[in-house]
Amino acid sequence: MDPFKFQIITTEKRGTILRKASFGCLSGIPTINITKGCLLGCVYCYARGYKIAPEKGKVYLFTNIPNLLEKYFNSPRKKSLPSLVIFNTASDCFQPHPDILNTTYITMEILLKKGVQIAFLTKGIITERFFRLFSKYSSYVMPSITINSFDKEYVAKYEPNTASPLERIKNLKELINIGIKPGVRIDPIIPFVNDSEESFERLLSKISEIGIKEVTASSIHIRPSIENILKKELSDIHKELLFSYFKTQNWRKIANGPFEKLVPLPLRKKIYERLKVIADKKGIHVKICQCKNPDLKGDKCFSLKSKNRVSYGQLPLFLC
Ligand code: SF4
Repeated sequence: MDPFKFQIITTEKRGTILRKASFGCLSGIPTINITKGCLLGCVYCYARGYKIAPEKGKVYLFTNIPNLLEKYFNSPRKKSLPSLVIFNTASDCFQPHPDILNTTYITMEILLKKGVQIAFLTKGIITERFFRLFSKYSSYVMPSITINSFDKEYVAKYEPNTASPLERIKNLKELINIGIKPGVRIDPIIPFVNDSEESFERLLSKISEIGIKEVTASSIHIRPSIENILKKELSDIHKELLFSYFKTQNWRKIANGPFEKLVPLPLRKKIYERLKVIADKKGIHVKICQCKNPDLKGDKCFSLKSKNRVSYGQLPLFLC
């Protein structure tokens, strides 16, 4: 992709630098989003439906985040250091633009030097200098990478500006090489789009080849605010498929968040079962995100109840 075809507008962040998440298993954890808007442009992205979301093609970069963080840490009024900061609840900090990456790098470096753990979920490319930084603080970095399909058509339609699946596998390999255990997320699984046996088989084979033993999965949700984006950006056939199973569903509140529609339960169960059977053969354990599947017995959610360092087994299950 050409990041320069997007308009990157530099701006200043106002108010609290470490805003606490208020949804699902992330509740109470301080978060940072380097930008408002995201040039990776996933069609199903909830953040694109937020009232404050910029129009397509525009991304606001908060260049003062490092300064605000330094001020926060030096303030005599601050109560205590957070043990963990989560990036990317509404944008991706690894968008391929040099200024965005630079602000991300400086921000992460400040946190790591202060002994604060960082966690992020990304579909971008993690560049070399981040690996050098992370290798110095490997027990403080908790990355997760989303890979939903190896099908080029899927990526082009649903995640148009993201890193290719092979680039994401490369990210995972590099993280493993520097002693970090990355998480892998398969989310969203979209019925009749990326949920076939062949699709799961191919994806899980690539994941198992690099020694990953666990993935977290969830099917797609829709919110009223992104319905129009999906209708506008998907082809007729994909729109028809997607809305065919949502039309029988009611809007409901999920994980203290806004109203959403879930894929019908019987269909979701079948999909997760299919995924688990294939994963099992490859020695991969599948966790189903409880936050996004409140009507299923999902897997244990994360809760930051203490100020102790978080271990990999306690990794939060991201909503983004
Ligand atoms: S990478 Fe995440 S934040 Fe960016 S467009 Fe995709 S879903 Fe949204």
